[in-house]
Amino acid sequence: MIGLASRQAKSKKQKESTGATSYVCNSCSSEGVYIDHTRGEVICSNCGLVLSDRSIDMGPEWRAFTADEQNSRQRVGGPMDWSKFDQGLTTIIGRQNVDASGRKLTSTRRAQIHRLRKWQIRTKVHSSDKRNLAVAMTELHRISSQLSIPYSIRETSAVIYRKALRKRLTRGRTILGMIAASLYLACRVHQVPRPLEEVCEHIHITRKELSLCVRLILRYLNLKVPFASPIDFIHRFGTELGIPGAAKKKAIDILQLAKEQRLTIGKDPKGMAAAAIYVASILTGSRRTQLEIARTARVTEVTVRNRYKEMVDKLGISTT
Ligand SMILES: [Zn+2]
Repeated sequence: MIGLASRQAKSKKQKESTGATSYVCNSCSSEGVYIDHTRGEVICSNCGLVLSDRSIDMGPEWRAFTADEQNSRQRVGGPMDWSKFDQGLTTIIGRQNVDASGRKLTSTRRAQIHRLRKWQIRTKVHSSDKRNLAVAMTELHRISSQLSIPYSIRETSAVIYRKALRKRLTRGRTILGMIAASLYLACRVHQVPRPLEEVCEHIHITRKELSLCVRLILRYLNLKVPFASPIDFIHRFGTELGIPGAAKKKAIDILQLAKEQRLTIGKDPKGMAAAAIYVASILTGSRRTQLEIARTARVTEVTVRNRYKEMVDKLGISTT
């Protein structure tokens, strides 16, 4: 009976943001699923309904025990990559004028291949959109390695940029500005926010231009971008300041308390994080100055001081 239900219950939803397929249970609408690879079944982990009994094994049909074997048996290229302008799917005509068995080509054939190669390069980036994308994705690779952005976030920002390009939001804006904005937003989507100022420093665009691009994307793209929470910043700032783990933990505790007391509402999360780190650094005996913390968090010293005063007053923390 479950088997019968499963065929009707197949409900695949394509998540465009990540490119991954996710299942939603038809019976209890839970999104948690368990994939049983030996049976090829997708089972709802909440109620046990079989959502699909025909999952396809995407892995290779061969086995390899050594790296050499792996190399000789592998016959596919790298995975699809949104952050390459062609998703890594173009055909490349090699520069060596040899055929499949390694023999030299005849001169007529060589001329033909030469012409093919020329047109292949020309058609690769034929429209202005494609050209824009090609430049943008190169910039994205450069900037994300400068900011040490991980692969998953780079992919998300590539998808955001592609959507913006399709909606013609890039018109009249610089490529760099839009790329920076999509990176900034992707960081927030993955809940590892970067201060707007930090992104600007690395990319050499003004804060004003970046926030303009960010607002443009947010307004027209219908993205679900969670607000940055002060807690998300603690680890980064803490590491940059070289404070011990205990101090980071303390800062998170303070922020949780502040959140319960509704102190964080309407406040810049960077400022809140900075103040919490300041308090925690004093409490755990690894004191950092307000100036040091303010510089790391890209806020003013005054902000740190004000947030710190509020926190100490309202939460009744004694730092002396
Ligand atoms: Zn279920």
